[in-house]
Amino acid sequence: MSSPAKNTPAAAPEAPSHFIRQAIEHDLDQGTYASRQWGGQPGDGPSHAAGEPDPAKVRTRFPPEPNGYLHIGHAKSIWLNFSLAEEYGGVCHLRFDDTNPEKEEQEYVDSIRETVRWLGWDHHFADDPVRPGIRQPHEYFASDYFDFMYRAAEYLIEAGHAYVDEQTAEQMRANRGDFGTPGVNSPFRDRSPDENLKRFREMRDGQHPDGAMVLRAKIDMASPNINMRDPAIYRIRHATHHNTGDKWCIYPMYTYAHPIEDALEQITHSICTLEFEDQRPFYDWLLERLSEPRLLPDGHVVAGLLNAPPPRQYEFGRLNVGHVITSKRKLRQLVEEGHVTGWDDPRMPTLAGLRRRGYTPEALRLFAERSGVTKNGDAWTDYAALDAALRDTLDPQAARAMAVLEPIKLVIENWAEVFGSDSHLEPCEAPVHPHHPEMGQRQFNLGREVWIERSDYEDTPPKGFFRLFPPSVDTSGNAVPGSKVRLKYGYVIECTGAIKNEAGNIEKIWTKLIKDTKSGTAGADSVKVKGVITWVSAADGLPATVNLYDRLFIEEQPDAGGRDFLTVLNPNSLNTVQAVVEPSLASAQPEDRFQFERHGFFVADRRDHQAGGKLVFNRIAGLKDSWGK
Ligand code: ATP
Ligand code: MG
Repeated sequence: MSSPAKNTPAAAPEAPSHFIRQAIEHDLDQGTYASRQWGGQPGDGPSHAAGEPDPAKVRTRFPPEPNGYLHIGHAKSIWLNFSLAEEYGGVCHLRFDDTNPEKEEQEYVDSIRETVRWLGWDHHFADDPVRPGIRQPHEYFASDYFDFMYRAAEYLIEAGHAYVDEQTAEQMRANRGDFGTPGVNSPFRDRSPDENLKRFREMRDGQHPDGAMVLRAKIDMASPNINMRDPAIYRIRHATHHNTGDKWCIYPMYTYAHPIEDALEQITHSICTLEFEDQRPFYDWLLERLSEPRLLPDGHVVAGLLNAPPPRQYEFGRLNVGHVITSKRKLRQLVEEGHVTGWDDPRMPTLAGLRRRGYTPEALRLFAERSGVTKNGDAWTDYAALDAALRDTLDPQAARAMAVLEPIKLVIENWAEVFGSDSHLEPCEAPVHPHHPEMGQRQFNLGREVWIERSDYEDTPPKGFFRLFPPSVDTSGNAVPGSKVRLKYGYVIECTGAIKNEAGNIEKIWTKLIKDTKSGTAGADSVKVKGVITWVSAADGLPATVNLYDRLFIEEQPDAGGRDFLTVLNPNSLNTVQAVVEPSLASAQPEDRFQFERHGFFVADRRDHQAGGKLVFNRIAGLKDSWGK
């Protein structure tokens, strides 16, 4: 596995070319689709022919089946289709591929719609980029094309390109042959078009039970490509569809429906993943049959049902990410069996989960872009590349804040001596962003008691430890003073000791403040220190719940070799801690993102933050890559 992020610049000056881009440029150059008309909405050949020249130079589509939540792999397809359309003066359609009556649900449609817009293509659904001001939703449902699909099926039957097969499923499977053996023609293959039409209409009219017969394309049972051995194109399914209700009891097969959907929408470049490569000959065969001129029995020649030239299919390697599973069935199992809290659990590879975890649309797009577009196999990408894309895009803009994730109390014993009273609060400030003075300053107070990280103190410091440790006596009997460190943006302090409870755990750390060493003042450099620690004062720090997430699976390929992926769930994928955060975070809104100094990038949880007045943050990613460790 590679980690492309390590040697890829934050923003490539020019996006790298790839074969799909080359195909688009070739078609624009040759004017392949230049004469197309657009009827204003998806439709058959004549309806588009009556329209205006298509204002979109290219049309792509993202066609999810609304049977689950979108996942990280879909982000790549969304990015590819929308960004190519945008770049070449085209449009990208969001098409719900809802031809399967049983699995689709409105919940999924809503979440897909929301996710695509969130990823950064909201404007595609508001204004037509080609004709500003004209609203072009470009959101379609494949089930709206059932009438046409049915009409096209009758057309194929009449032209002798399809037949109703009444073999059982087992017979059909046996007669299909395999890679080494040609198939055997069905005994129903040579029925007349009239007989086929009659049977097909009986199928449509509900006269036959599920599975009794199917409509098949009549191509070649000896084809070396098994997908061309008379594939089934319509099946009987007595089921209620979420859009068309009980209107239909026959439904088109995916391989038949998809090319037609593309053609009705006048897609130019139909981009899909490599597993569809073997379907391309059928895709081309079908659209050729439906767009070629037809000879009527009376000798007249009429135009085909669809316009030529037809869309073309291009396949690229799907995106696979280490430590992640994307199978919808397995993701559903994680949710239904309660291994995660829901589809948007921040550990889920769904885009809803990644969003809640805090990943930004920008980071996801950059990640997709960096993963490359290839046609020679799937792209395996390290999860670290997603975190790198996040850091590269968020670091330049995220507001900074101090947070103590494992708080322990530190007391400055000479506070009243220095400032006159124990209750005195000393104002401190820090830039919101070190490279963006225009983002302003954060204000907070230093007081007699502050919270610091437990790990910033050691009774007996290991070699190279420059944070807090108490005075001691070395092996030769010499006194070693306690360490001096800077409370970041505050003063230098010197450790004088620590108090332990009965169990031997540190309860409080004692220190002395060194006068006139405040950051930003002339005396700041008068005392040199090797350690700087972050802190939040007990007086104005705010309690917060912080969710520290880790990978959901301990293995890089959780389901490799048929392994039960549940056996490699990471038992420590979530560690929730009670933290103390600086007062500037009181106004953080859900989905606001921050860099907690020394800790990494965090987001205010979009569901729980501010619910009931509580502050809840999720760790998105650390400051450095920790995936290899
Ligand atoms: P299933 O898991 O049910 O087969 P799917 O993940 O293929 O579903 P679809 O809704 O059919 O989901 O996918 C919509 C589009 O997203 C398709 O064009 C598909 O090729 C693309 N896509 C799905 N997974 C990936 C992936 N890992 N990388 C790139 N594109 C993907
Ligand atoms: Mg699919």
